[in-house]
Amino acid sequence: MENVVVMYPSLGIGHLISMVELGELIISQDPTLTIKILLTPQHYETKSTANYIKNVTSATPTITFHHLPTLPNPPDYSTPFFDLVFELIKSYNPIVHDTLLSISKNSNIKGVILDFLSNDAFDVCKSLDLPTYYLFTGSAFGVGMMLYLSTIHNTTSESFKDMRSYIEVPGTPPIYCLDMPVTLLDRNFNSYKNVIKISTNMTKAKGLIVNSFAALEPRFMKSLTNGEHIPDGPTPQLYFVGPLIRGDSSDNSNDKCLNWLNSQPKKSVVVLIFGSIGKFKNDQLMEIAKGLEKSGQRFLWVVRNPPPENEKEHAFALKEPELDNLLPVGFLGRTKEKGLVVKNWSPQGEILRHKSVGGFVCHCGWNSVLEAMHAGVPLIAWPLYAEQKMNRVHLVKGIKVALWLKMSEDGFVTADELAERLKELMVEESGKKLREHVEEMSASAKAAMVDGGSSRVALAELVGSLNSVQV
Ligand code: UDP
Repeated sequence: MENVVVMYPSLGIGHLISMVELGELIISQDPTLTIKILLTPQHYETKSTANYIKNVTSATPTITFHHLPTLPNPPDYSTPFFDLVFELIKSYNPIVHDTLLSISKNSNIKGVILDFLSNDAFDVCKSLDLPTYYLFTGSAFGVGMMLYLSTIHNTTSESFKDMRSYIEVPGTPPIYCLDMPVTLLDRNFNSYKNVIKISTNMTKAKGLIVNSFAALEPRFMKSLTNGEHIPDGPTPQLYFVGPLIRGDSSDNSNDKCLNWLNSQPKKSVVVLIFGSIGKFKNDQLMEIAKGLEKSGQRFLWVVRNPPPENEKEHAFALKEPELDNLLPVGFLGRTKEKGLVVKNWSPQGEILRHKSVGGFVCHCGWNSVLEAMHAGVPLIAWPLYAEQKMNRVHLVKGIKVALWLKMSEDGFVTADELAERLKELMVEESGKKLREHVEEMSASAKAAMVDGGSSRVALAELVGSLNSVQV
């Protein structure tokens, strides 16, 4: 019987890519293992995700995707995205249970690796006595926050939204309560209750796999491995195996962005891309355009339509934007020598690795951060959703790889502020120092992934743990 590792990612291409990359690394470490990735139809509803799955299927036959059937009553897209993810995973539990049972009839399941947002399947894995690991697709800092959340929950009674104080978490700068993820601000939110469950279950896992590397978050990793985030019990084995990021794709050789970058001077272009679902209202789009013009810097900007106001729309839906209606009159013409505006989606990883790129206005999503660190590109932090505000504190004040962008309480950034930060990053001495530091991170990220590097050693330990299971 073949030896299988089953993986269950969460929705969103960022979550899928890190899971697939981990699968590829596991196979490269031990080619006798095969990988089965469970997917609901909601996992591959967008074009970018469907294409990605198609490419992996043809390039890596040892990774197979197991397509779970459509639910008779799938959760409704009007549900807030975070709740939708939890509901979906919960609804699939009976199917996942039967699927795991059926896989185990013909193969030895050496372990199940759950995305932390697929946490609701944890009890299913336990009921089948399967060794269960979590892949945490955020930072080591994020894992620490997640684990420590149970302690905060048990030692306080107020919601974060009412605290008006700083949250102290071992190994990290204090986080202002309102910079905690929106989904956690109120104890009565379903999303809060779901995250507390993740926090509790993660302490019971066989191992926690983290998408980060030793040189990026050393202080934080030390306090994690010292057990400071689970004061009342043992910390599961931690595996820092990152950066799990996507390599170059042959599909993109003719891409408009990469061709345009070929004609730009070295490290001269600032990239503005805001994750898989980042969208701005009309007034903010106008203001960004004004800020770009004012800064005089070269730029590559991925523009999307503003979020729909009343429509029931999938968070990942990307309708074609009408640029002339969204941007100031004449903007595209005036900036055509210095800038490129792209609609909806771009090959971000390859763009960041391009020699002409010198800065990245980033929404602080962890995959984007790692792609930038690997490529040696410094950041301007513009958090939008999920845990990104707290990531900003970590990136700017903790590991010092980003500039802080001032924004109003509702997240609005003025053209002047954007222009100032762009000039600081691209022209001034402080930006130069930041770039040098991030270039050192890039060298460390690459060193971590070669034989004998810290992430390779951690990967070997993880595969050793998977293989230690007698089925
Ligand atoms: N991405 C991309 N092109 C785009 C926008 C995003 O390839 O135009 C990719 C990006 O490279 C990253 C992922 O989508 O791998 C986004 O993940 P991240 O964790 O940064 O943010 P999320 O979308 O989960 O908020």
